[in-house]
Amino acid sequence: MTKILITGGAGFIGSALIRLLLKNPQNQIINLDKLTYAANQEALDTFSKSPNYVLIKGDICDFQLVNSILKTEKPTLVIHLAAESHVDRSIESAADFIKTNIMGTYHLLEESYRYYQSLNQIDQKKFRFHHVSTDEVYGDLAHDDPAFTEQTSYAPSSPYSASKASSDHLVRAWHRTYGLPVLISNCSNNYGPYQYPEKLIPLMIHNALKALALPVYGNGQQIRDWLYVDDHARAIEKIVFEGKIGETYNVGARNEKTNLEIVHMICQILESIHPSKQIGINAYQDLITFVKDRPGHDFRYAIDSHKIETTLHWKPLVSFEEGLRQTITWYVERFNQNKTK
Ligand code: NAD
Repeated sequence: MTKILITGGAGFIGSALIRLLLKNPQNQIINLDKLTYAANQEALDTFSKSPNYVLIKGDICDFQLVNSILKTEKPTLVIHLAAESHVDRSIESAADFIKTNIMGTYHLLEESYRYYQSLNQIDQKKFRFHHVSTDEVYGDLAHDDPAFTEQTSYAPSSPYSASKASSDHLVRAWHRTYGLPVLISNCSNNYGPYQYPEKLIPLMIHNALKALALPVYGNGQQIRDWLYVDDHARAIEKIVFEGKIGETYNVGARNEKTNLEIVHMICQILESIHPSKQIGINAYQDLITFVKDRPGHDFRYAIDSHKIETTLHWKPLVSFEEGLRQTITWYVERFNQNKTK
């Protein structure tokens, strides 16, 4: 059995990762999650009855709790996803981002190192601490700049990305200074089912289905690089089991699209699976509304995922068109189910 402590496993990416890891009956998952507004009960229901799964409701900043979980559960792997993750919320109020993303990561590192020291040599060799981070730590790119590589300097713009950059630095420091066996991944924007409807794709689907305005920041020309959430989960699995200790891996699918393109694609796909006439409007496109741009809004993100593709032989399996259609279909099914409840 491989015991894996996952933090933030009730969130969008963490729950996709747990679903994937539980396909292997050798994996046993302990999910430490504070169950904030971003946790998704429906996503948890997809595996909560598995005999290889346990949920512990708690805060990664509670170092006594983290210490006792590590001591009693004795995991071989720690995969750290718990975070405050929404840029707009970090602009409104940064306190929770500093607390969870920086202090929480610090406590997790401290307790993981204490635990690591208590292991015998054989178990120390197997132990890994994997930190899941974002491409936003690199700041933004101009139109024709090359994509971010693992060597790109950090230049975060928002309180969110600054807090994630800080956590990455802490993780590297615990490796370099104390020899904790760590791995880091920096991933592009994810999309898929069970994402909280404050992020671009689920927000647009939710609003469109309710005939509400589709708010697009500024002129909508900001470029993001999109990856289907299950492909990210597969990348994390690869890195944690096969990655080289101390290394960072950029994860992305070379799917650069402007926000406005995304909103238009959502409207088009929605017209084909849930025509706007059904909800009494002329066309979903008519709902597009340009709103004041986000302060400090990054212009473009693009990930060069050459390293993970060539060294770990990971590549995304889901094309953007297919993934977006699957995602929209999933949200429409939920919308229709809720209507009949
Ligand atoms: P999410 O907001 O959907 O989920 C975060 C989870 O962490 C929630 O279940 C929440 O309850 C939990 N949590 C928050 N604070 C906690 C605390 N103090 N203690 C314990 N649990 C806590 O986030 P997500 O989109 O699934 O992102 C997961 C990770 O991946 C984050 O670290 C994020 O920075 C990173 N990431 C996200 C994306 C993306 O596009 N969503 C892209 C790259 C990297």
